[in-house]
Amino acid sequence: MSDCLSTQAWVYYNPVRINAGIGILRRFPELIADGPALLITTAGFTRRGMTDKIKGQLGKNRVIVYDQVTPNPELDALDRAASQLKDHKIKNIVALGGGSVLDTAKVLAVTLPSGLAEPLNHVLRQGHAHKWSSRIPVIAIPTTAGTGAEVTPFATVWDKSTHKKHSLTGEFVYPVHALLDPELTISLPRNETLYSALDAISHALESLWNRNRTPVSEAYALQALKLANEALPAVLENPDDLDQRARMQNASLLAGLAISQTRTAIAHAISYPLTIRYGVPHGLACGFSLAEIREYCHHHLGDALNSGIVAETMKLLHSLDLGSELTKYNLPGVDRIIGLETLAQDRTGNFPILIDNAGIGEIIVKSMV
Ligand SMILES: [Zn+2]
Repeated sequence: MSDCLSTQAWVYYNPVRINAGIGILRRFPELIADGPALLITTAGFTRRGMTDKIKGQLGKNRVIVYDQVTPNPELDALDRAASQLKDHKIKNIVALGGGSVLDTAKVLAVTLPSGLAEPLNHVLRQGHAHKWSSRIPVIAIPTTAGTGAEVTPFATVWDKSTHKKHSLTGEFVYPVHALLDPELTISLPRNETLYSALDAISHALESLWNRNRTPVSEAYALQALKLANEALPAVLENPDDLDQRARMQNASLLAGLAISQTRTAIAHAISYPLTIRYGVPHGLACGFSLAEIREYCHHHLGDALNSGIVAETMKLLHSLDLGSELTKYNLPGVDRIIGLETLAQDRTGNFPILIDNAGIGEIIVKSMV
């Protein structure tokens, strides 16, 4: 693969307005239009007083709370939420949380105004053609540093009944505002800090080894890796370092901007069955194979992927010993993993070289040593 060719046609488009900085959360009411606001968050944030704080900022009577988000949002639960909330005439959605909260908000933003009964069952599970053509504006406030979901036009929906992972996509799935306040990430426990950072690193690397990459996505991805290379070890060592938390949050944002153009590729394809069937956290399920993917194909990769920045990221990944983190999960043998239906169907096509199941099996085996 050569580096991006100037002769190749490409487009850059990302409509999300980004507001970032320490303490910026206090300014979020300015971004909200009149009318009822739906706050989407988790029961944990409600317990810790964040829901009351936001109600206080916006006015108690304006805020409808949905705090039942659980990790890896499930298709039927999202359809039930749409049906519960559809009569509230919601004018704004505020999403406060990690990737699952942001994805839930992005889904409800387009399903609530769609007028469909059981919208996800109808469109994603049953496969009826539908264009999401209107939305409720979303203000995405990430509390982890990793998913980049605040700037992407996709939301992941999991269908446990069929062991399938769907991606809801389209122009209207983009949030309108992303609000990045590093203070929100300071209390993130070690594992969540690590796993979400691995997700950001996966996004950056996968947008580099990607058929759809452009000069813009490449620039974002390399800067994301540069920031993460320094910030991840620093925040694991000293979780209260606000400056490094801000760098890690910026790394996540930049990696999100990169995949908003390219989508992800092979490490995400490997991750999905590990998450849906065995509960491996998303970032770990993506991150554990990155070093071996690069090892497997580095002769085919261009300058950007053989740069000093990427070499530093590989050193960092090796130092984290992710293979042994995976032993906490009751994973089957590699033959079972590569035979799982979610592995074959998604994302491997974005990878710039053809890789078969035997190649993927080799990567997984070496990654788990
Ligand atoms: Zn991801």
